[in-house]
Amino acid sequence: MAETGVRNVFSGKKRAGSDDVDRDDYLVVSKKAIVTMPPSSWEDPETALANARHEFGEHGGVNMSIEASATFTVMEPETMRRMFSGELGPDRDFFIYSRHFNPTVLNLARQMAALEGTEAAYCTSSGMSAVSSVLLQLCSSGGHVVASRTLYGGTHALLTHFFPRACNITTTFVDLRDLEMVKEAIVQGKTKVLYFEAMSNPTLTVANVPELCRIAHDKGVMVVVDNTFSPMVLSPARLGADVVVHSISKFISGGADIIAGAICGPASLVNSMMDLHQGALMLLGPTMNAKVAFELSERIPHLGLRMKEHSQRALNYSKRMKRMGVKVIYPGLEEHPDHYLLKSMANKEYGYGGLLCVDMETEERANRLMNNLQNITQFGFMAVSLGYHETLMSCSGSSTSSEMNAQEKVMAGISPGLVRMSIGYSGTMEQRWNQFEKALSRMNDSTLFPKN
Ligand SMILES: *Cc1c(COP(=O)(O)O)cnc(C)c1O
Repeated sequence: MAETGVRNVFSGKKRAGSDDVDRDDYLVVSKKAIVTMPPSSWEDPETALANARHEFGEHGGVNMSIEASATFTVMEPETMRRMFSGELGPDRDFFIYSRHFNPTVLNLARQMAALEGTEAAYCTSSGMSAVSSVLLQLCSSGGHVVASRTLYGGTHALLTHFFPRACNITTTFVDLRDLEMVKEAIVQGKTKVLYFEAMSNPTLTVANVPELCRIAHDKGVMVVVDNTFSPMVLSPARLGADVVVHSISKFISGGADIIAGAICGPASLVNSMMDLHQGALMLLGPTMNAKVAFELSERIPHLGLRMKEHSQRALNYSKRMKRMGVKVIYPGLEEHPDHYLLKSMANKEYGYGGLLCVDMETEERANRLMNNLQNITQFGFMAVSLGYHETLMSCSGSSTSSEMNAQEKVMAGISPGLVRMSIGYSGTMEQRWNQFEKALSRMNDSTLFPKN
């Protein structure tokens, strides 16, 4: 196994002088860089991000330089052998090839590790590649996964259809709220992973992370949590999860312009995934481009501000919707079944997340509302995805969860009229609320006088 270690993710000192000089000061600098953010002293995501090492540009720029190279030179031929044997690695600024490690992508990985309070992280080309690679690394042929019934459609399809066909990895789906069911579904020795979303798509069910981790760990099972819906709000690794995966394409990017993902977890896992012979990341190659990593790393410092505003508006609208008699699902509302659970686990000041769901009961009414909201009052856009500055809305049953059959949707609590809204922060709160009210009142009119 390539010894491209524990320290990789927390270091990236610029090379100076001859590269095969294993000087002590290199080590000292590397170690210092590591201790600036030891997971053990992690308090909250904002503090950890501020404490993460700041990388300056090559010419003293406040922003890091982009290392836009696929391959890296050495000064002496012997260095190459030492890099391949694992003796010299990215922790001392020795890079081989950018599918393995790239300094710019590594810097984003450092930020992701700080965000989630994990020892290490690795950034991938999409959320799905993060999910699939980590599961393929942890499960072998014949392996078993226990997963929540309410999952992102793509992940659900991966577990239901692709894994059994491609590699004989099977999954038992459970109701996460039924802890006995979770316990019973775990087959000791065979089950490798318990997989769920911290806040689930699209029904906004919140997982009892500490309790689920206790159950899994008692049986020697790793816990992998998708935290795409709740970055900053929840920190699953700090609540016991072994691995946190992200679709960076959503809130973390915030621009609805980039597809990307990340795996945050122990350094030993990242290492194993980079192994030259057995590593899912190294061998399947879902690598992130350095230019993309640079763009994303510039957005992470304002993720906290954005999450606060998404959450604040989602809470405000959901309260007003409720008052108007709209059937709204939002974990920030006291009557949401997971409200107090979420409150007990959430990091302070980030609210309850930027997503809410409006249940319009039928797909026809859902479509009519979305049409009014986009085409008449300009409240938001009909589009899948989330975390954008504009509000995005989609009817989950016929879009992002359409991979599920009718029964699976009922089991996951997805009504045919469920409109998922990722609440944006552009425009003023009152301006946007007026747009919502107007669209809703027009809908009631057209129920009385069926026209559009
Ligand atoms: C979007 C999403 C994914 C997949 O991420 P991509 O970046 O689109 O590959 C996985 N999980 C959740 C919860 C998502 O919302």
